Amino acid sequence: MTKPQGIAVLGATGSVGCSTLDVIARHPERYRVVALTAHRQLDKLFEQASLFHPDYLVVADAESAARLRARLAEAGLGGEVLHGAQALEQVAALPEVDAVMAAIVGAAGLPSALAAARAGKRILLANKESLVVAGSLFMDAVRGSGAALLPVDSEHSAIFQSLPADYAGDAESAGVRKIILTASGGPFRQRAAEALLHVTPADACRHPNWSMGRKISVDSATLMNKGLEVIEARWLFNVPPSRIDVVVHPQSVIHSMVQYRDGSVMAQLGSPDMRTPIACALSWPQRIEAGVASLDFFAMGDLTFERPDMQRFPCLKLAFDALETGGDAPAVLNAANEVAVAAFLAERIRFVDIPRVVADTLDGVSASASRSLADLLARDDEARRFAEERVGSC
Ligand code: NAD
Ligand code: MG
Repeated sequence: MTKPQGIAVLGATGSVGCSTLDVIARHPERYRVVALTAHRQLDKLFEQASLFHPDYLVVADAESAARLRARLAEAGLGGEVLHGAQALEQVAALPEVDAVMAAIVGAAGLPSALAAARAGKRILLANKESLVVAGSLFMDAVRGSGAALLPVDSEHSAIFQSLPADYAGDAESAGVRKIILTASGGPFRQRAAEALLHVTPADACRHPNWSMGRKISVDSATLMNKGLEVIEARWLFNVPPSRIDVVVHPQSVIHSMVQYRDGSVMAQLGSPDMRTPIACALSWPQRIEAGVASLDFFAMGDLTFERPDMQRFPCLKLAFDALETGGDAPAVLNAANEVAVAAFLAERIRFVDIPRVVADTLDGVSASASRSLADLLARDDEARRFAEERVGSC
């Protein structure tokens, strides 16, 4: 029997982290949890530690670490408890870790995902912000170390599965005409522009098809999520924005498509359940049980398609524009969006202010050609400060 693969789950207590552990628990002979990380949800992390017995646990600060250590000792559980951002990078690069699930939310997930890339790991990438902030640097690190990069975002998993198995980043020679990202349209797809003035965080987090963390739920409601995914696709598949289309498909059955030169369209379909792309990334090129029910074509109803409305949802256009501008403009877009979404969730600004904060930050913080991680993080910081001030004047 072959040795189980060592897995580090970064962001284990989140929506993607929990779904990942659900899949791993179905295959104890294939996977062994080496490290679990969380920010501040100690109860959940403790519960996960008692089920999976990781060698390492990482939390945000020394005080949380001391509390977790005490609870583990009391329960007679082992596991070394570390804390801080540096410790995330450390566990991502451990020699006994074969694969890293990068499922921290936001740019906070970049340094650890990059550490996994530099250490040549198999990276299961849910944290799309890594590629939005540092696409070029990240892909260079993957190529430089020979790491394997497997998309977890459902759309990118669909595209990955619809491209030729030997696709090496050359759309032209693979005969790819377009990459078509599908979007559910979010909870406000049918709301009039005036109604968007009054929507609440709870309304925005009530996604019609997917159950997700709060930040990505708001991003889905503004369509910024699709904008971030356009940038993610640009880097994962090395395609220019002119070859990427967005199609609103409210049923979320088709997870995305690839259109070829000869007129063929390859698509991946499935239930809207993240365990499918997670299992696919974990086991590729094999297929493992993920606990997901088969699609029932007779119960499914109509599949429909619409053009995205960039007037009501300007964030999608802002993301296309930032990608065209290039350099670190996508990092500025992402930082401003994180600040604006947090402010909306804290009820400091309205839903319609989110694109305004992002647009003004893109105007106010000029893009340059940041190359290093330090440069990109400095630009991220500058954009956050600008956006925070702009929030104050909403
Ligand atoms: P979530 O909010 O449910 O979970 C986030 C996780 O990151 C938690 O474990 C939290 O403790 C940890 N975390 C938060 N801030 C941190 C910080 N500063 N430092 C260290 N850890 C921190 O988020 P989610 O919905 O699971 O999304 C995670 C990532 O996956 C995001 O980048 C999101 O865009 C992407 N993604 C999610 C889904 C989904 O269905 N939820 C689908 C596709 C992609
Ligand atoms: Mg997605």
